[in-house]
Amino acid sequence: MERTKLKNILIISGLTFTFLFMGFIPSGEKRSEFKLRRVVIDAGHGGKDPGTIGKMSREKDVALKVAMQVGQYMEELMPDVEVIYTRKTDAFIELKERANIANRNRADLFVSVHCNAVKSTGPYGTETFVMGTSDLNRNFDYVKRENSVILLEEDYEINYEGFDPQSPESYMMFNLMQKAYLNNSLSLADKVETEFRTRVNRHSRGVKQAPLYVLWTTSMPSVLIEIGFLSNMNEERYLNSKDGQTYIASGIYRAIKAYKEEIESL
Ligand SMILES: [Zn+2]
Repeated sequence: MERTKLKNILIISGLTFTFLFMGFIPSGEKRSEFKLRRVVIDAGHGGKDPGTIGKMSREKDVALKVAMQVGQYMEELMPDVEVIYTRKTDAFIELKERANIANRNRADLFVSVHCNAVKSTGPYGTETFVMGTSDLNRNFDYVKRENSVILLEEDYEINYEGFDPQSPESYMMFNLMQKAYLNNSLSLADKVETEFRTRVNRHSRGVKQAPLYVLWTTSMPSVLIEIGFLSNMNEERYLNSKDGQTYIASGIYRAIKAYKEEIESL
């Protein structure tokens, strides 16, 4: 009897030890939840949607070149991160589909690359957006322009359930968005602008908030980077130069790398 009891105790403590030991493995796995595994790189616009147009170039082409270069740096220098592109060619991808690609692939980060433009030729510099409605009155024209690509899509009335990118009322529902990813999005956005300002020698216009459809519908930290103004002649030339594109792409790459190190050290 005693022996059986002892045997039972040994078995139980053995099991307990195993469970305890195993218990440490899941905690290791838990930590790896914060690993940056998959990043979606989204080149804005494409196909029948040229985006903004400068004197010598179109947003869709410049955004694609820079986005591809960011992805290439990541593939070469961050082999543990899978890079997913929303487009690699001059293809028209619906706004909704861009977010779907990221959500379907359970990406940990969504980085969208765009170029800015305004009527005046004066403004220049970079700005990085995170989701938010606080500045809507000030940047409504910009928001309207970036979201209005929806109007080029077939069946947009059905697919976007009455969301009209041109109507301020439509943005009321953006207020219902969850803010779960805001801190991480802000952290990356800040790193991007800091890189641009300190190492790429760009004029940073800062981190901003706007209800941009792709940022709203992605279920992960997400930023939209306006890498410069095609409406400014000097900047358009820079954005189209090989050196300019390389500097911008490496700045974005370094920001993603710093973000990765930060979230994985938590
Ligand atoms: Zn754009």
